[in-house]
Amino acid sequence: MDYDEGQGWHDARIVPYGPLALDPAAMCLHYGQEVFEGMKAYRAEDGRILLFRPEQNFARLNLSNDRLCIPPVDEDKMVEYLKEFLRVEKDWVPHSKDTSLYLRPFIIAIDPHLGVHSGKHYYFIVIASPVGAYYPEGLNPVSIYVETKYVRSVRGGTGFTKTAGNYSASLKAQSEAEEKHYTQVLWLDGVERRYIEEVGTMNVFFKIDGEIITPSLDGSILGGITRKSAIELMHSWGLKVTERRISIDELAEAYDAGKLEEAFGTGTAAVISPIGFLDWGDTKKMEIGGGKIGPVSQRLYDELTAIQWGRTKDPFGWSVEVCK
Ligand code: PMP
Repeated sequence: MDYDEGQGWHDARIVPYGPLALDPAAMCLHYGQEVFEGMKAYRAEDGRILLFRPEQNFARLNLSNDRLCIPPVDEDKMVEYLKEFLRVEKDWVPHSKDTSLYLRPFIIAIDPHLGVHSGKHYYFIVIASPVGAYYPEGLNPVSIYVETKYVRSVRGGTGFTKTAGNYSASLKAQSEAEEKHYTQVLWLDGVERRYIEEVGTMNVFFKIDGEIITPSLDGSILGGITRKSAIELMHSWGLKVTERRISIDELAEAYDAGKLEEAFGTGTAAVISPIGFLDWGDTKKMEIGGGKIGPVSQRLYDELTAIQWGRTKDPFGWSVEVCK
């Protein structure tokens, strides 16, 4: 789909996968005027194709658009286009109990300008690609490195959006953590360097003394759709979930007091990722829940994946049927 000033978004179409022709001065290449989303289409056992809360993805896309000076999209129309695409290309959604079709909508500014301004012409593209199970051998706790040298985002910046620049800012930290054999980093806030933000490509939750705590969305953290769903699910079980600022010192104190019972990340890729080990450099190393999966993480994973794959009744209306 294209956007041209004066004409708006137009010409939604399905084209074969292939390279894009872009002017070398295209603004997205120089100034990162880009936004994206990540979602999956699932094939239920009875053959139905399902999307998980797709309207949330396009609502978030519009939040990103606004911050990046990109014209808004019609959210309902985008969901309809996506459903239409999946009906036309339904064989793309794997007939497998753990492989899904990853969908990557993104928008780029294509105006050829070397001056720093927002564009007047955009492409909106959706890439579709099958993805295998994140945990082919079952849910495995990950080891996470507490990042104290680099900063991903600050309030007032773009941290609450899904834009390329947030991820380029995180590459160095991620690669240094991987060299030390950690899966991802735990980001701290960019000002005081104390408050926990999120984990690489996931939001983060802690169970401390029976209470579930997750950092509040203060403007520098991405509002994950899995995060929102996990909170709603836990509320439906009667668990106490608190969204508030939580510092790394508070977490370490809870650990020392034997009160840090569970930690996990939430995100579209892994759904739930139990955190078995948290390395806060020379300050503290924390093995959480004996390095094993906790009951809340396991139940969230089981119930969310059952809804996503259409294995259970969906009392929330999150699962959107595309076709048989
Ligand atoms: N934070 C960041 C930085 C992410 O890239 C993601 C993945 N989209 C998430 C959190 C989790 O968001 P969601 O649950 O919508 O996938």
